[in-house]
Order: sequence, then structure tokens, then C-alpha cells
Amino acid sequence: MRVNKDQFIEDFVNKLVSKRGKKIKEANLLDKYYALASLTRDYIAEYWVNTNERYLKDNKKQIYYFSMEFLIGKLLISNLMSLGIKEVCEDGLKDLGLDLNEIAEIEKEPGLGNGGLGRLAACFSDSMATLGIPGYGVGIRYKYGLFQQKIMEGYQEEFPDQWLKYENAWEIKRPSESVEVKFGGNVIITQKDNRLKFVHENYESILAVPYDIPIVGYKNNIVNTLRLLSAEVMDKEFDYYHFNKGEYTKAFEDKYNTEAISYVLYPDDSYEKGKILRLKQEYFLVSSGVQSIVESFKKSGKHLKEFYKYVSIHINDTHPALAIPELIRILIDEEGFGWDEAWKITKHTISYTNHTIMAEALEKWNVDMIKKFLPRIFMIIEEINERFCKELWNTKYNGDFDKISEMAIIADNQIKMAHLAIVGSHSINGVAKLHTEILKRKELKEFYNIYPEKFNNKTNGISHRRWLLKCNPKLASVISEYIGPSWIDSPESLMNLLEFKKDPCFKEKIYKIKQYNKNKFANMVKEKYSIEINPNSIFDIQAKRIHEYKRQVLNVFHIMHLYNKLLENPNLDIYPRTFIFAGKAAPGYYIAKETIKLINSLGKKINNDYRIKDKLKVLFIEDYNITLAELLMPAADVSEQISTTTKEASGTGNMKFMMNGAITIATLDGANIEIANEVGEDNIIIFGLKAKEVLEIYKNNTHNSIDIYNEDIRLKTVMDELINGFLPVSMDEFKGIYDSLLKDNDKYLVLKDFCDYVRAQEKIDKLYRNKSKWLEMSVTNIAYSGKFSSDKTIEEYAKEIWGAL
Ligand SMILES: *Cc1c(COP(=O)(O)O)cnc(C)c1O
Repeated sequence: MRVNKDQFIEDFVNKLVSKRGKKIKEANLLDKYYALASLTRDYIAEYWVNTNERYLKDNKKQIYYFSMEFLIGKLLISNLMSLGIKEVCEDGLKDLGLDLNEIAEIEKEPGLGNGGLGRLAACFSDSMATLGIPGYGVGIRYKYGLFQQKIMEGYQEEFPDQWLKYENAWEIKRPSESVEVKFGGNVIITQKDNRLKFVHENYESILAVPYDIPIVGYKNNIVNTLRLLSAEVMDKEFDYYHFNKGEYTKAFEDKYNTEAISYVLYPDDSYEKGKILRLKQEYFLVSSGVQSIVESFKKSGKHLKEFYKYVSIHINDTHPALAIPELIRILIDEEGFGWDEAWKITKHTISYTNHTIMAEALEKWNVDMIKKFLPRIFMIIEEINERFCKELWNTKYNGDFDKISEMAIIADNQIKMAHLAIVGSHSINGVAKLHTEILKRKELKEFYNIYPEKFNNKTNGISHRRWLLKCNPKLASVISEYIGPSWIDSPESLMNLLEFKKDPCFKEKIYKIKQYNKNKFANMVKEKYSIEINPNSIFDIQAKRIHEYKRQVLNVFHIMHLYNKLLENPNLDIYPRTFIFAGKAAPGYYIAKETIKLINSLGKKINNDYRIKDKLKVLFIEDYNITLAELLMPAADVSEQISTTTKEASGTGNMKFMMNGAITIATLDGANIEIANEVGEDNIIIFGLKAKEVLEIYKNNTHNSIDIYNEDIRLKTVMDELINGFLPVSMDEFKGIYDSLLKDNDKYLVLKDFCDYVRAQEKIDKLYRNKSKWLEMSVTNIAYSGKFSSDKTIEEYAKEIWGAL
């Protein structure tokens, strides 16, 4: 859009008055933020309306991306950038004596996601808008986002994230577009005109109220919509009977119970608990989502028979898989379709992304629970299951009861959501090449055998606008200076940087920018934690959810080993390193929380040990979120991507670090493999067991951690230090970690990979000393990172799965 500085200043000053009732002089930071955000939304509104109008007119396919999480990050700066008016606003504010960055900082980040899965949904939304794909995000407006993490005495403590405490400047509430979602009750079956009729009775109704957030395409005048749904009571705000008796708590009980559906995001990443409230959330999302889509499709005047030609519904993991029976329910019960046609429409409409192969993360719902809360949906799932099992019996697996019960959607009193998603959709994709191969050849082999055409790979991606242009403006500007700005629209042109990888002047600029970003981070650390870190040390960062499979403990063991070596010989020539950790642990995940305490205990010991002459520092930065990630990625020299091979489906943190010039130390897992293939083995540090070896170990049970412990004295020393009082905690503090590695035979193969990890880390130490070589590697990584832009990923989804574009 176009706005000149004077116009902007006038608009802003007027907005302060109309929105906040203040003049500049009296306005505080919050006033200024809300005035600016509200003005920005006004600017967006025109394009939003036009986009929606165009989508209605065009006959293009509409894509609905259903996800329980959207981790979108702060929006003010990125919206200004997408509108193309960031510089004008910055200048205008400066004239008023204001600083855009200071104002933008006060925005509260919507914490509507756990980690990678939620951030993926956000990057995909961004890319759909930028590519002009009619794409809608559909999610839940959790009143409290993911908990806020504080570290107290080295332990994680959780606090509610009150991101809606003031107002959300970006959303528009649309109560008139609310829909009713029904829970519980029973189903009456009657016969009418030779057809069965299903009537749902005695249900409890909950209102799903939409809040729309604009998703602004990058400088293309397109604004898509992220629709977040909030649960409200249908009619009765409170119960007069109890109210009049003075029983206020009781009077509001129903309201509370209803609205609780959209109160909290479950904080378990890659773990499934099977809680009733979570089931209700999932159905709440899909039922309101699918109902609105069908309603708006009907308004277009087209026949529902053609639904799948104009609508795609994509489900982000199995969490929204109830969209399958829900669409069938609407088509049969409300629109009068027969089973066969409803089934065909549904299957052609829905596509599914699988995010993990870890058993503990696979969704299974208890049959009795679904029967009770979703009686009609249960009947439909039963019907799908019966027909599917019959199909198996009549075709490939005649007489093979074992095979059929293994593949069934319902078995052992449980509903397997992945099976439902595979059977009821036309596409299932993994999120990196290795992950998809494991799905096809191992985890979902039986399904691949009968539906090979459904399986495909779509390696994850990240928005290079947020993860480079916005979070690292200095780097972005030097890149544009050397290769022009075309990379912003076509990220693969970042390859043109290769030409300059040996150019000393260019490399010096890259070096200076990294130092600038490291200094910025060091200043934050000093201010917040009163810890001095050396900006000339190697910044070695592991930022991601705390999980055993991500192996923060392997990283810790290497640090302990270095520390032991330094204690033995304080003059040892180790390049100074600052090890930085960030990440939340699920509140009920004991070992993950112990890991956080371990990192902090080690930090306390190392950071205060004058003997090692500041050669090592260990930091845990609390409350990892998008805002913190935007500060961390640009400051990283080393990116830790050290999951147990086969366990990390893709990873996206790996891509963000790479894009900002960090060198990756990695196992050949998930998208690390594809990163390695792009940059070549000279520009990434690979270590550890290969997928084949890991699968072999798991299959044949050939691994014995006690043997490794006994054979490697370095490892034995470190392990013993967990429980012998070496760290400033009680002796049994880390017994859980210790036992999981020895008694429980180290399921994630930490000990097995330790030796090779130490070797790889020594290589990093050597390489960093060669500044010229290191910078060449760094430039090479940036150059190849365009391959991992979510624009590319979304283009593939659109062409190969959705049949849009
Ligand atoms: C990218 C991102 C993740 C995912 O990181 P992985 O290393 O892929 O697990 C998690 N949380 C936040 C805040 C992120 O930005």
C-alpha cells in the first residue's frame, strides 16, 4: 500500500485520540502500541475486504488448514513489512520522538502453539497469503496460551499466559457467524421414505464464536484469514434459580464449564494423554469449522456434489481427524446424501499430514468416551471401520484376522485416529524424506501396501520473511545489497550468494552482522540474568522443546566432559564457548523437567568457577517462544540438532538457524539429512548412528548401555557426577535421568552417540578458529536455505495435494 509520512503521522495522532482518548504527550507505550496496531489493521482492512470479495467471485479452490495450534508470533512489524510501509512508519514515528521497535516490543505474543507443529501452521498461513492461495487457517482461540515458563531455583515453574488480558488488536469478532456444536445426548433412528433418518437428541449445545485475524501477504495486496473459534454458552449466561438463592458459584457453573473448552492449550508436545476436554476441543474445532465451510459453500450456489472440487480441508496431524466423520454426518444427516456419495466427497476433500512415528504421540481415543460425548460421530466411525475391514477381507487380506485387526480403525476398545485419517483422506504426507520413507516402509507399511497412491512427502519449510527478513534485518539488507532483493519473492535466488563466499569484504560484513546480533543477545542476558557472556566466544544454541528424543542431555554430557577436562588442565586450549539452552518441558514430564534443573545446576557450577577462566558458560534462557527465537537464531554460531536418528520427523528449528548462518551439528535425522544434502558434508557437522543402525538396534535389542558406561571412562565420570554430589544439588536430584540411561537401557541412545558427538564438537572447535573458512561455511548455509522456504513447500502442497494453483 502507499501512505506518505505526513499522512501516516496524521493518521496515527488521530488514532491515538479516537482509540485511546489521548494526545501523544499523555500516551503511554501501551496506548501507542494499540493506536499503531489499530491503524495498521485499518490499513489492512481495505485489502482484506477486496481479497474476500475476489475469492467469492473467483471459482478457485479454497483451502482450509485445520490445526489445533497456530504459533503466529507478534504481528505488528511483520504486518507493516508486508504492507510495505515499515520504513515510512518508522520515519514518521521518529519525527514524533517515538521508536517503532520499542512500541512493537510491548505486543503480547499469542502463545497458541507448543512448538514446531504450531509454527508450521503459521509459516504455511504466511506463505499461502503471499502466494495468493485462497487459504484459511482454522484453529482455537485459547484464552490462555501455552504456559509461561519461569525458572526459579533452577526449576521450571508454570504460569498462565494471559495474552488476552488487554485486547487483541488484530482480531475481529464475528458473533453473527457463530455455529452450534453439539455434545452428548443420544441418537434416534427412524425410517422415512425408505431411508434411515438419524436424529440427535438431548444434546448439550455450545456456541463456537469466530474471531478473524488477517494474514497479510507480502506486498501483494492479498489478505487471508485465520479464523480462531471461542466457546461460549448458547443462551443462558447464568442460572437464575441458583442466582436467586444466592448460590453464585453454582449459577455460573454451566457458563464456566462450557467456556473452559477454549481456555487452555494442552502443553504436551509429541505426547497424547486422552483427556476428555481435549477430545471436546478437537470436535469443537472441526464441527464448527466444517459447518461454516459447508454453509458458505452452499451460498455460492454450487451443488454439494461438487464440494471437493472447490474445497480442500487439510488436517495438521490427526488432531482434527474428526473432520472426516463430521463432514459425512453433515452430508448424510443434514443434506440428504447417501453413504457412498458422502464418503466419496469426504475422501476427496480431506488430506492429512503425519507429524510423528513415536507411539506415545499417536492419538487413540477410548471408544466409550467418543460414544458418550459424540454418539452420532461414533456411529459414523463404526460404519467407516466396518466398510474398511470388509474391503480388506474382500481384497488383500481374506482370512487374515490378525492383519485386519491390526489395521482396523477400532480395536481393543480404542479408536486409532491415524488409521481413520488415512482411510478417510486422499493424501497422507510425511514431513521430511526420511520420515516419509519410514512411514511407507515401516510404521504404516500395511496402509502403504493398499493405498500407495495416497502417500507422499512434503518436507517442512519456514517463512524466510519472518526468519530472515524480519528477525535479522541487517543480514537481509546485506544480502539484498549483493544479490538484489529478488530473493524475498523467490528464496532460491539466495543461491546467488555462493558467488561471494570467498569474497573477503562480503565475509567481513557477514561476520560483523553476526557479532552485532551476538552483542544484542549478550546485552539482553546481562540485563535480565546479570550474567556476562563473551560475545567473542562460540554461541552454541539448542532451542526447542525439552524432550528425551531431542537429547538435551547429550549436549549437557559434552559440556560436563569439557568442564572435567578443564578442571584437569586449566590451560587446555579450548575455544571459549557459551552454551545456550531454551525450551519448555510439559508440566507432567518428569525427566524433561529434571533436564532443565540439570542444565541450570551445571550453569551455576560452571559460570561461577574462576578456575576455568571463563572458557565455558552455560545459560538457560526462560520462556522459549517465537519472540525469543527471533533473537536467538541471528545470534547463533552453532545449531544443535542432535535428536536420536529416526525420532525427529523433520524439525524446523534446524532451518531457521541455517538461514541465519549458523553451522549445524546434527544427526542424520529428519530434515537435517536434506540440509546436509544441500550444503554438502563440508558445511555441516554430522555425527552419530544412521537410521538403519538405530532401527537395527531397536529391532534386535542389541544395545546395552551399561557396557558403554563401563567402557568409556569420560562417560562414566560424567554419569557418576550426576549422582555423587559433584553438582550443587542433593545426590538424588538427577536419579531419574541416571536411571533412564542405565537401568532403562537408554532408549534414546545418548550413551551410544556420546563418543562421536565429542569428536564432532572437537571439529567445531577447530573450524571456528579458521575465521575465513567458518564464514565461507556460514555463507554457504545461508545460500542453500532458500530450499527450505515454506513458499516452496506450500507450492508443492497446492499443486500435488490440494489441486490448487
Ligand atoms: C521453530 C520453533 C520450534 C520448533 O523447533 P524444533 O527445533 O524443530 O523442534 C519450537 N518452538 C519455537 C518457538 C519455534 O520457533
